[in-house]
Amino acid sequence: MNRQIRILVVEDEEPIRTGLIDVFVFHGYEIDSAATGPLGLEKALTGKFDLILLDIMLPGMDGYEICDRIRAVDRNQPIIMLTAKTSDEEIIHGLKLGADDYVPKPFSIQQLVLRVEAVLRRSRVGQEQARTLSIGDLEIDTENLSGRKGDDEVAFTKREIEVLCYLAQNSERPVSREELLSKVWGYARGLDIETRTVDIHIAKLRRKIEVDIKQPAKLITVRGAGYRLVTER
Ligand code: CA
Repeated sequence: MNRQIRILVVEDEEPIRTGLIDVFVFHGYEIDSAATGPLGLEKALTGKFDLILLDIMLPGMDGYEICDRIRAVDRNQPIIMLTAKTSDEEIIHGLKLGADDYVPKPFSIQQLVLRVEAVLRRSRVGQEQARTLSIGDLEIDTENLSGRKGDDEVAFTKREIEVLCYLAQNSERPVSREELLSKVWGYARGLDIETRTVDIHIAKLRRKIEVDIKQPAKLITVRGAGYRLVTER
């Protein structure tokens, strides 16, 4: 990676904040920080950070709400919660809102650095895997949202690419509509949400990737189970 990795530290306790900044600067990261909830959210929403270290108890807006608001616009932003609250319930609440990990306070710096490296590694692997997607003779560039079908250039939406990537990652089995709604759209399971949303996306995708949309060979329906993506030629 030829640029420095950027971390945002959102923490109101000054000694902890400056301690974190020192440690991560020492480890070669570029650091920005915020001491209040609203400023933390504002900086987080710029989307320029590789990772956000997020305290829970903050003036103005707590870490849960910040996490929730980030997730509403960016499901992939790596977030680690720093929590003095160590009850299972609090931790589960944070993870449910979409934090990638949590580190209980007081934390050892070494532990924290290891957790940060692990989360960054996972998010990088995800990005690299997702760059090119091959479905049979179809090659899709997941960043440019474009693909090539024979001589035709095909344009995709971000959501369509996300659906394809998720199906590709699970191509050994059919994926149900409910699972897609939960994993791609981010809806909680068990909510009574129109699964037709999924079907509409699948229909649009078939028009883009299938040779014969009446007889899908790539994005197939598995009766009673969902959809499966056939990625091999
Ligand atoms: Ca605090």
